[in-house]
Amino acid sequence: MFTEDRILEDLKALDIVQIAIDLGRQVNRQNLIHCTFHNEKTPSLKLYPKDGRFKCFGCGKTGSTIDLYTSVGNGLSFSEAVREMKSRYLGIVDGQPRITQRIAKPVITKNEKPTVPSEQFSPIYSSLQAFCKQYQATDIKRQALTYLTGRAFSLETIRHFGLFVIPDVKATASFLTSTYSRTDLEASGLFSPKGFMFFQHPIVIPYYFNNQIVNLQARCIGNPSTNGWKYQYLRERTPSTMFNIDVLQNLAPGSKIYLTEGAFDTMAITQKGGVAVSINSVTLFKPEWVKLFRGLKVCFFLDSDGAGQEAVKKLAPLFLAERISASTKTLPTDCKDVNEWLIKWSGQVNGYPAYWDQDLNNNNKTNGTNTH
Ligand SMILES: [Zn+2]
Repeated sequence: MFTEDRILEDLKALDIVQIAIDLGRQVNRQNLIHCTFHNEKTPSLKLYPKDGRFKCFGCGKTGSTIDLYTSVGNGLSFSEAVREMKSRYLGIVDGQPRITQRIAKPVITKNEKPTVPSEQFSPIYSSLQAFCKQYQATDIKRQALTYLTGRAFSLETIRHFGLFVIPDVKATASFLTSTYSRTDLEASGLFSPKGFMFFQHPIVIPYYFNNQIVNLQARCIGNPSTNGWKYQYLRERTPSTMFNIDVLQNLAPGSKIYLTEGAFDTMAITQKGGVAVSINSVTLFKPEWVKLFRGLKVCFFLDSDGAGQEAVKKLAPLFLAERISASTKTLPTDCKDVNEWLIKWSGQVNGYPAYWDQDLNNNNKTNGTNTH
C-alpha cells in the first residue's frame, strides 16, 4: 500500500542529479547547475546526490528533489510537483491523470542534446567494424550471413544498420591488441582481463548515437549452446542509449514511431518501411528518453510474452505524463516477437501483409536516411 508519507519519502530518495537532467539542466562535473530559482551566468546550485538535496550558493535556496522539481517552467506548486513526479517516476497516477499545462511545454530545448552515452571509445569500435568488414570471407562470415538472411533481413538492412561479423577471433583480437593499449581495450569493454569478449558471439550490432558507434551488442549464430547465452554486451557497458536513436532526429512531427524490445525487431520494422527504436528492456529504459518522443505518435510493439506486456504497463505512464500519445500494437498470437513476424511474412505464409500495411507505411517523412 502507498501512503502519502511513504510516497514523499520515495520521491525524496530519487537521484537528484537524474531529476536535474530530466528537467533539461546541464549538470557539470562538480554537480553544479544553473540555479532554477534565480538568473545567473555561472552555475552555483549544487546538487548533493547522497542526501537528495540542493543548495544554491547564489541565492541561498535549499531544498529536496521535490523542491527542485517545483522550479520547472513557470513554477509548480508542491502538490503539483508531487503529482507529476509520482506519475513520472513511480508510475502512480491519481484517478484521471491531471497533467498541468506547464509541464507540457518542453523543458529541454531542441538544440540541447539528451544525456549522451560516452563517445570516448567510438574510434575503437569503428576501427573494429572496419577491420571486420574488410577481412576476407570466412566460414563464420558465411554462416552469420546465412543466419541473418534466414531471419528475413535483406543485405540492404544489414548494411544500413552497420552490422558486422567477427571473421576470426584470433585475428580480430590480435588486430585490436596491436592497435590499442590493453588499458584502453579493457576500458572500452571489448576486453576483460581474460581476453576478447566476443569470442562466441560473432554477429555484432552497433549502437549509433550522432552517427558514432557508442556501444556494441554481439549475438551468437542461431541458438546458444546449453550453457551459453544469446547476447554478449561489452564488459560493464550495458546499452546506454536506444538502438537506432538517430532516427529521431529526422522525423516530422506527428510521425509514428514503434518502440520495440530488440535491435532485430527495429530492423524488421525498418525493412518494412516503418520507423522504430528499441529499448532492450524496461530496466534499461531511462525516463529522460521520454522527452525525445515529444510530438511523435508512439506505438509500443513489444514481445507478446508476459514481460513485454508488463513493460507496456510500466512505460505507458511515463509517456502519458509528458502528454505523448502512446498506443500498443499486439502481435499475432503465433509470433513471439516482431522479427518472427517478419520471418513468417516474408516466407510463404499468407495473410500477414494486411497487418503491416494498415498503418506501418503512414505519413512518416524522414529527411534522408543515414547509411552506415
Ligand atoms: Zn539561486
